Amino acid sequence: MPASLSVLEQNILKAKGMKEAQIKKLPKLGITSKAAFATIGDAATLRELTGIDETTAKAVMAWAVGGGSASTQSVGGTVVVDSADIVYCLHCKTRQPKDYQPGDLCPSCGKQAEPVVACYWCGASGPGKFCRQCGAEHVLAGELELALQLRRDGIAKDDIPKRLASLSVAEKEALFARARKATHGHARNM
Ligand SMILES: [Zn+2]
Ligand SMILES: [Zn+2]
Repeated sequence: MPASLSVLEQNILKAKGMKEAQIKKLPKLGITSKAAFATIGDAATLRELTGIDETTAKAVMAWAVGGGSASTQSVGGTVVVDSADIVYCLHCKTRQPKDYQPGDLCPSCGKQAEPVVACYWCGASGPGKFCRQCGAEHVLAGELELALQLRRDGIAKDDIPKRLASLSVAEKEALFARARKATHGHARNM
């Protein structure tokens, strides 16, 4: 495993607005690969760890964890393109066996291989790509707020993940801003 972020990753982080000194601190925090950002999970946590500003944190997280179910991730230095049904352990990055079911424990480290995610549609939560209650496709934890706003906008259940995947960083920013406004003032109707 490389002990620091690749030159390409560092340049991408710079392009997202991080300063040289901030990038240098990342390995000390244990952030040595793009996959580490997925473990961090959301912009707020990234900010707590690194102290970077909100816009940059969101841009970094959109790059690091965006892209939906078929994602590109760096494993041991080589870039592999995941097919939608291959699951890697969240904790130790071990590829899960073929008969893996959402909720199974990782055979390598014994923790639950996938994060538990809340459903934007029915509010149930569980592991896996789809909600067991209503069948909605789960979205990334960091984008739950966006999915809830799309739901308030009247977007159909099955269209929300597609819509999220198609949004640019700037469009997500705007949606975040609207989601904030909508949840202030009014009681959350979840
Ligand atoms: Zn594991
Ligand atoms: Zn659901």
